[in-house]
Amino acid sequence: MTVGVWILGDQLWEQQAALQSCDQQENLPVIFIESIQHIQTRPYHQQKLVLLWSAMRHFAEELRQKKYAVSYEIAEDFATPLQAWVQANQITELRVMTPSDRPFLKIIQNLQIPCKISLIPNNHFLWTTEQFNSWAKNRQRLLMEDFYREGRRRWQILMAEDKPVGGQWNLDKENRQPPKGKLHTPPTQWFEPDKITLDVIAKVKSLSVPTFGEVEPFRWGVTSQQALQVLDWFIQYRLADFGPYQDAMITGEETMWHAMISPYLNLGLLHPLEVIKAAETAYQQQQLPLNSVEGFIRQVLGWREYMRGVYHYVDAEYPHKNWFNHTQPLPEFFWTGKTKMNCLQQIFSQLQRTGYAHHIQRLMVLSNFALIAGISPQEVENWFHATFIDGYDWVMQTNVIGMGLFADGGMLASKPYGASANYINKMSDYCKNCTYSHKERIGNNACPFNFFYWNFLDRHREKLQKQGRMSFILKNLDKMSTEELQSIRTQAQDWHDNC
Ligand code: SF4
Repeated sequence: MTVGVWILGDQLWEQQAALQSCDQQENLPVIFIESIQHIQTRPYHQQKLVLLWSAMRHFAEELRQKKYAVSYEIAEDFATPLQAWVQANQITELRVMTPSDRPFLKIIQNLQIPCKISLIPNNHFLWTTEQFNSWAKNRQRLLMEDFYREGRRRWQILMAEDKPVGGQWNLDKENRQPPKGKLHTPPTQWFEPDKITLDVIAKVKSLSVPTFGEVEPFRWGVTSQQALQVLDWFIQYRLADFGPYQDAMITGEETMWHAMISPYLNLGLLHPLEVIKAAETAYQQQQLPLNSVEGFIRQVLGWREYMRGVYHYVDAEYPHKNWFNHTQPLPEFFWTGKTKMNCLQQIFSQLQRTGYAHHIQRLMVLSNFALIAGISPQEVENWFHATFIDGYDWVMQTNVIGMGLFADGGMLASKPYGASANYINKMSDYCKNCTYSHKERIGNNACPFNFFYWNFLDRHREKLQKQGRMSFILKNLDKMSTEELQSIRTQAQDWHDNC
């Protein structure tokens, strides 16, 4: 019997389950495949393709040096090189670590290859899907906060016996400071591309398939060693101040105090437990502020694990959910970046250059706009998946359909994250240099976030009334005159008609 391992692009870790399931690593046949067909599902960001393929090529090289029998194929599809490789190596069992993305699992299940295929349970998250499902079943609501506390207990993170260190589980209230005065943000840990990455950049430049964004300058890390450097950099220079300003947005400040590790976590170049432990150790040894450390750990031990758990827990219909029945097409400017709305324009421009935007830019500007403007959740999810450097099916379905757009009717989020220009003006400096006025609701200068916000509340009043946390906001809608409300409806409709 000969076992071979197919390593997928987001499983670039030697301790990954399929490799670990094999008794002997020396001369173990392993295969990597770059498929052109696969990247045509949507117009991916060019830097995402470079990151993925360069990281795959680097990891393949690392395994070659450790005496694995590595095949690296560049092909149209996955099946053709797999069939040839299975035959050439007389492989009788192909092992693959279960992919995180459901569509990819289907690809594997539909493969026609002349050997047995074994799926080995994915070990790239702290919670297994079985553990999550047994936590979730019989619960009326899947509250992230409950899940996060359970994670803290299970892995004994920031715990003093059975109590949270510092007495509180969640210090989020200390982490919402608006940007005020001159903030001295630390530099970002970037890298110069090496020969392998330059080859991939040349390949991406020569592609004749639709893509998004700019390929250069490409500055992401592509190995686990570089990913660890980014983690160390974050712990050393950013983590202490990460908390207070994590929701703030400033023109020209692309990364602020954010960790910049999500692309590496999602490729397998970092493991979530090593990230969490590194932050906890820094708290213990360097006395870093608890609000920053707890806020960061909640992102990894809480949100990230929760999103993945929910993704596998929900039924296959989840990606099609559309609770508000929003059907407006995604405006062209999401792809071109050409809009007079300064907040969106700044973020689109940053996204095109880097493939990155931080969580509040994603949630409270991009998703918020799509939510209140009534854009189709499926088109928005597809756009996020294509354009973000760390976007995959498992992370975008729940984040966009559930969290950002409330299209699952509140299974995941406690309220719809809709907001007017007031929020953006408070948490950023974008409004200062905008064509529109953040104070106006109607008229030529009115900020679209304003008339869309009130129009959204008005259109969905009945549904929103049933959401406990919305009743206070709806009271403000009731104070609005019929004439003003009618003008808001007309302006929102005109905007769509002329978009
Ligand atoms: Fe964005 Fe409106 Fe502020 Fe302009 S005024 S930056 S469109 S929120």
